[in-house]
Amino acid sequence: MAASLGREWAGIQQFPAATQTKLHELLGKLKQEKVTTLTILVMGKGGVGKSSIVNSIIGERVVPVSAFQSEAPRPILVSRTRLGFTLNIIDTPGLVEGGFVNDQALRIIKEFLLNKTIDILLYVDRLDAYRVDNLDRQVVKAITDGFGKEIWRRGLVVLTHAQLSPPDGLSYEEFFSRRSEALLKVVRLGARIKKQDIQNSPIPVALVENSGRCNKNENDEKVLPNGTAWIPNLIKTITDVVLSGGRSIVVDRKLIEGPNPNDKGKLVIPLIAAFQYFFVIKRIQKWIREDIAQEGRPSWA
Ligand code: GDP
Ligand code: MG
Repeated sequence: MAASLGREWAGIQQFPAATQTKLHELLGKLKQEKVTTLTILVMGKGGVGKSSIVNSIIGERVVPVSAFQSEAPRPILVSRTRLGFTLNIIDTPGLVEGGFVNDQALRIIKEFLLNKTIDILLYVDRLDAYRVDNLDRQVVKAITDGFGKEIWRRGLVVLTHAQLSPPDGLSYEEFFSRRSEALLKVVRLGARIKKQDIQNSPIPVALVENSGRCNKNENDEKVLPNGTAWIPNLIKTITDVVLSGGRSIVVDRKLIEGPNPNDKGKLVIPLIAAFQYFFVIKRIQKWIREDIAQEGRPSWA
């Protein structure tokens, strides 16, 4: 993707000075590590706040937001440059329709991503939801089957609607930790990541409040109930994930049309079958033929 395609990231100047300073520091840190382009893929169910996050990060209303899940059926790429750094964010339609994962939507997303490189996956859901179920697991599984489980090494769980008062006398931190634990468990199951692998490189969870009524601190930055300025915090978490390792996902024809990238091992199954045929079955058949030949005519004949 040519950096020249991106428009100047003007929205960053709409942020309060404190946020701008932090963002420029983070972009500087990335550039120091030779990361001059970041492509972020935003995915999740419909209506969870994916498009709103794109608008919040860019600092402009660049993609349509809807309260009624009448989303654009196609992905949208928004590209902005700032001080020699290019930020690409890809907003996608929700992956669920009528209670099921919509495979067609996933196919359209993959096709759109052809020849692009995904550096970061934002898996979006709401903080103020109280259950996780099999559908969540199916969504995670669809993403894993589509792009390979490696994508989770570059993944973040992002929870919107983070300005809430927890029910049942729970503290904010307690509520957040329970909700993220439940979701991370589902991600681990859907992505078939081993428990110890996730302990070694955990998937971070970042909180977001897209509402215009989000509380602000004395520097005019939007803050969560725990006082965190969430825009710089989200970008910092993204930066940490990029710099902590893992590989970007290159979307080529093979990834789109090839077998499930997690099933590569299964390609050897026909080879094993052929081996068995020639070296085991053929040999047994030979022994049987020899046996028959040696036996000659049975005595009763
Ligand atoms: P998408 O379908 O995942 O792209 O979700 P949208 O960004 O279109 O948002 C769906 C609805 O939720 C819209 O009415 C948004 O205004 C609202 N919304 C999104 N994020 C937040 C948030 O963090 N807080 C609140 N209060 N509303 C949000
Ligand atoms: Mg949307």
